[in-house]
Amino acid sequence: MNKIKCSICEEFDESGDEFFTIAGKPACTGCWEDARESASTLVKFNPDGEIEEFYFDQDFGDFEGGDLPEPIKAVKWVNTDGWRGYTNYEIVPGFEEIADGWVTGWPDETTKEKAELGDYYEQLKSGDLIPPVALYWVFGRTSNLFSTASSIYVRTDDKDKLAAWLEEVNGGLDEFSKKFN
Ligand SMILES: [Zn+2]
Repeated sequence: MNKIKCSICEEFDESGDEFFTIAGKPACTGCWEDARESASTLVKFNPDGEIEEFYFDQDFGDFEGGDLPEPIKAVKWVNTDGWRGYTNYEIVPGFEEIADGWVTGWPDETTKEKAELGDYYEQLKSGDLIPPVALYWVFGRTSNLFSTASSIYVRTDDKDKLAAWLEEVNGGLDEFSKKFN
């Protein structure tokens, strides 16, 4: 019987399953499952129309033995009040955040701003919109079950090209980031 001491919760696990963190340390089944459940999602929209999805977590990387997906450098839980909080990200140099905010449930017609943001997402997902540069759209857990923290990143070098494109699509970068507020 394999008995491991979890490097995250420090409990002993005798299930025989073996999980490892990206640092190569053993982890228990419970911590792995919790991490899967609260994992962040990154959707990368490529300029060639390809769409890639990654699930990731600070301890387990991409859950397949790989590191955190670009441009994520670290995942942090920010406590706002007691157990309330949201997921925040540190990003690698050379990238920047162009928008961030909350996405509440699925957008509906009653909240026009959010519906428009949801429209962008749906159109990118369906391929109706293809960005001229890679767009990294990240969704993270919050303490509110119905609310997801969402951030969008691009390479700093790509920002001008993206802004010009957004101008063409609908009102430009400022209008776009306002849709989150
Ligand atoms: Zn554990």
